[in-house]
Amino acid sequence: TVTSTSTASTATTSATTPAICDAPPLPVLGRDVTVPLVTGGEVSYAALDYAASAPALQRVWDDVAAYAPYYGSVHRGAGYLSQLSTELFEQSRATVADFLGCRPADQVIFTRSTTDSLNLLAAVLPAGTQIFVFETEHHAALLPWQRAKGARVTCLAAPRTPEQAVAALDVALHAAPKGPKLVCVTGASNVTGEVWPVRRLAAAAHRHGARIVLDAAQLAPHRKVDVAELDVDWVAFSGHKLYAPFGAGVLAGRPDWLRDAEPYLAGGGATRTVVRRADGQVEAEWQESPAARHEAGSPNVIGAYAVASACKALTEAGFDRLAEHERQLLDLLRDGLAGIPEVRVLSLFGDGADRVGVLSFVVQGWNSSHLAAALSAEHGIGVRDGLFCAHPLVRHLLGGEPEDPGACGSPENLSFNAVRVSFGVGTPHEHVRRFTGALAKLVREGA
Ligand code: PLP
Repeated sequence: TVTSTSTASTATTSATTPAICDAPPLPVLGRDVTVPLVTGGEVSYAALDYAASAPALQRVWDDVAAYAPYYGSVHRGAGYLSQLSTELFEQSRATVADFLGCRPADQVIFTRSTTDSLNLLAAVLPAGTQIFVFETEHHAALLPWQRAKGARVTCLAAPRTPEQAVAALDVALHAAPKGPKLVCVTGASNVTGEVWPVRRLAAAAHRHGARIVLDAAQLAPHRKVDVAELDVDWVAFSGHKLYAPFGAGVLAGRPDWLRDAEPYLAGGGATRTVVRRADGQVEAEWQESPAARHEAGSPNVIGAYAVASACKALTEAGFDRLAEHERQLLDLLRDGLAGIPEVRVLSLFGDGADRVGVLSFVVQGWNSSHLAAALSAEHGIGVRDGLFCAHPLVRHLLGGEPEDPGACGSPENLSFNAVRVSFGVGTPHEHVRRFTGALAKLVREGA
C-alpha cells in the first residue's frame, strides 16, 4: 500500500461554511512564494491566473510524493512495483470515472490535456461527420475538427443569451443533412467565465440525432460535472487546470467511435499482435478496449495518479462549498471593479450570467498588456493578458476587427486585447482585494 502524508483532513471539513471566511477551502502550493517588486522589496505572490494553470493542491503533491518511490512500468512489468503501478493507474481511471459520474459503458482515456483529448476525438470521427461549434470556443475546441478527414464544420455565431445558443443549435441541426453529427461546446468560457447551458444543448443535440462533447477545461475545476446528468456523450478536461501538475488530461465517454477507429497513436500497448507478412509488410491487430487502443506508449502514470488525487480532494471538499467560496471572491471582485469607471467587463450573456471564477476586462486608455505587466512588476499579482486562445470570441466581445491581427496587444491596437483574472480553491480573499486595490491605484495614477 502506498501511504500518503496527505493533508486530506483539511479537505473534509463540514459542509457548513461561515458566510464570509477568508481561508481558502483547500491548500495549494505556492502560498509562501515571494516575488521582487520593481519598486524595491518583496511581496507575497498573488496567483490570479488559475484559468491558464492552477497551482497544484498540497494534497496532490503529498499523494504523488508518497507514491513516487514505488512507481514502475504499467501493463508491462512482472515485478511487484509494476503490478502496484498498474493497479494504481487503473484505480485512478475508476476514480476519474466516479468524479465525472460516468455511465457503466463509458471509457476514461488518459491523454496529455484537453487539447489532446479533443484532437483524439477528432481523429476517431466516422467519415463525413458534421461538426457544430460556436465561434466562442477556445481554439482547442474550435480547431481540431477542421483537420478531421471528410468532416464538415459549421461555426455558429456567438449567441447573446443561453436561450439563443440553444435555439441557434436547434436550427442548425434541423437544417443539417443526414449522417453522423457532433456538437462541441464549452462548459464555462475561458474568457468570460460564463457557464453555458450544457444540459439544454445536449438535449437539442440528441433531439436531432447528434452527439455532444463537453469541453470542461474551465468547468470541471469549479463545478460538479456529471456526464450522465448532463447527458453529454464525451467530456474533456486538463489536470493542470484541476489542481494537478501538467501533462495529464482526460477524455471520457461513449466507447463506440473510439473502439471503431484506428488508434490515435500507433505503438506499443495499442496492439494485440504484430506480424511481418511474407510480402514484407508489417501488419498490426489493434486492441479493442478504447483505453488500450488510444493510449499507445508508456502512459503518464504519475500524471493520472495526480489527476485522480485532485478529483478525490475536490469531491471530499464538496463542490457546494467550493462554489460558495468562489461566489464570495466574485462578489469582492465585482464590487472592486464597480468602483473603477474605466473598467469594462467582457460578457456574452450579460449581467445576471452564471459565472465561474474567471473574468476578463479592458480599461479605457490602457493597453491590457501594459496593465498586466504593471500588476506583476509593481504589485506581485499574476494575471493574464491577450486574446486567451479564443480570438473570434475576444474580437466579438471587443467589437470589430483589429487592423493588423498580428499586432494584437501592441500600443497601436489598444482595444484588441484584454486582461483576465481567475481564481479558485486556494485563493484567499486578500488576493482579490489586493488586485482591485492595485488596479484602482494604477488607473488613478494613469497609463
Ligand atoms: N478549453 C478551454 C475552455 C480552455 O480554457 C483551455 C485552456 O486554456 C483548453 C481547452 C485547452 O487546455 P490545455 O491547454 O490544457 O490543452
